[in-house]
Amino acid sequence: MREHPDTLPLVPIASGQGAWLTGLDGRRYLDAVSSWWTNIHGHAKPRIVAAIAAQAAQLEQVILAGFSHRPAIELAERLLTIAPRQADRAPLAKVFYADNGSAGVEVALKMAFHWFRNAGQTQRSRFVALANGYHGETLGALSVGDIPLYRRTYAPLLSECIFAPSPDAYGCENEAQAEQQALAAAEQLADIFERHRGEICAVIIEPLLQCAGGMRMHHPTYLRRVRELCDTHGAFFIADEIATGFGRTGTMFACEAADVQPDFLCLSKGLTGGFLPLAAVLTTQTVYQGFLDDSRERAFLHSHSYTGNPLACAAALASLDIFAADAVIERNQPLMARMAEHRQSIARLPHVADARQTGMVCAFELARDGNKHTPFAPELRVGLAAYKAALAHGVILRPLGDVLYWMPPYCITPAELDLLAEITCHAIENATSCA
Ligand SMILES: *Cc1c(COP(=O)(O)O)cnc(C)c1O
Repeated sequence: MREHPDTLPLVPIASGQGAWLTGLDGRRYLDAVSSWWTNIHGHAKPRIVAAIAAQAAQLEQVILAGFSHRPAIELAERLLTIAPRQADRAPLAKVFYADNGSAGVEVALKMAFHWFRNAGQTQRSRFVALANGYHGETLGALSVGDIPLYRRTYAPLLSECIFAPSPDAYGCENEAQAEQQALAAAEQLADIFERHRGEICAVIIEPLLQCAGGMRMHHPTYLRRVRELCDTHGAFFIADEIATGFGRTGTMFACEAADVQPDFLCLSKGLTGGFLPLAAVLTTQTVYQGFLDDSRERAFLHSHSYTGNPLACAAALASLDIFAADAVIERNQPLMARMAEHRQSIARLPHVADARQTGMVCAFELARDGNKHTPFAPELRVGLAAYKAALAHGVILRPLGDVLYWMPPYCITPAELDLLAEITCHAIENATSCA
């Protein structure tokens, strides 16, 4: 707030349409970060607007304990039909709703832990997460997150988690090296499993893309190895696809890139097309069965007031309708190719150390001389300078430190992508020339 009065005035937004937001003063901004990665189809998408309006006139909210409603049931069924699936495994079969991403992560963590308690394996109480991972801000989710800026202050309140090295391919020259990096990180995960035999209840990761950790990307081989290791050692695999889910990495879910099916799939952010908060945690019949008991202690007692809210479920159903009716995943392919072309030209700028892409996400790592080993001094706030330069030209980039990224709504047009690239280029040159 210190910065907002002068250095960084707040930008009041009055309305949105497609990939654009309009300020109270009438200025327009291209929303290149999909309003914190949520707004996947664009703002004010008529189909979702209509679905919410119709649902509001019918049933806006009802207690989801002892009661149910059509949108919640339909959404659960549809999520299960599109969920990642491995031919040799029993499919994901049950859905538990919460009302935001962090709460969804809490659900998966508590359920994994509690399942082993119910199974009499009380020694299985530890979680493994990845270095540089992010899973939300509530205390449980923060415990399995590894970003110091968010975590450090609250460390005394957090439960202990084992962090495995990230398979992050940053610095790799080609795909073969990225795969080697993934295999090496998987070896270290294997060592952790050996050292903690019988103690680990679940591994939680962001598949393919560590978003809040600076849009760091890894090779899909890592996911296959995590699946194998979890199976070998009898632990659950929790895929946090809150940011990657719903087409962001090029397929409907990131897990598909490796043909793996997790035991828990956490979804939120894009779930409702960015209209309303909602989370869904998908899991297996086996997990469900572990809680089916006469004892209340063994049941999973976890709820939020707005769990499975009908308006949010209706928005999510409309978003899935858009995926089907507009063949969104297929139609994103040429957009991804266009992004790749622009990425390659931005990669040639002198201060761009790395320009990477996974599906509908591009990230540009800024450094002193395009040499990955010499970042800008943090106090120069080069990323912030780039943000301001882009904003002045009507584009919303919201860098993570000195990492600029594009995570546009899928309704973005090729011409809008060209504009985005041009202004990003300008912003990078502007921010790095005086640094
Ligand atoms: C955003 C995010 C969360 C937390 O979701 P909120 O709705 O912000 O609580 C969890 N995991 C990942 C991977 C995320 O990107």
